[in-house]
Amino acid sequence: MMTTESKNIGICPECGAEVRLKKTPYVGQAITCRHCDSVLEVISRFPLELDWAEASWDDDFNDTEVDRADRRKSGR
Ligand SMILES: [Zn+2]
Repeated sequence: MMTTESKNIGICPECGAEVRLKKTPYVGQAITCRHCDSVLEVISRFPLELDWAEASWDDDFNDTEVDRADRRKSGR
């Protein structure tokens, strides 16, 4: 039998632990796994699925990192 509570538990893709969400999750919600400190994101509600949040940030994140690295290299 499915309970309301069970909908709010996802599996951490990093360590496989159950990650319980206090409120009804929404797609795109960022959460942190208590077990391994991975930053995760809700990618699906029914069933509740979690994925690494970095995956969706990848482009922006890399651009920022490269930008910083370039500034350092160029001599300041
Ligand atoms: Zn984890």
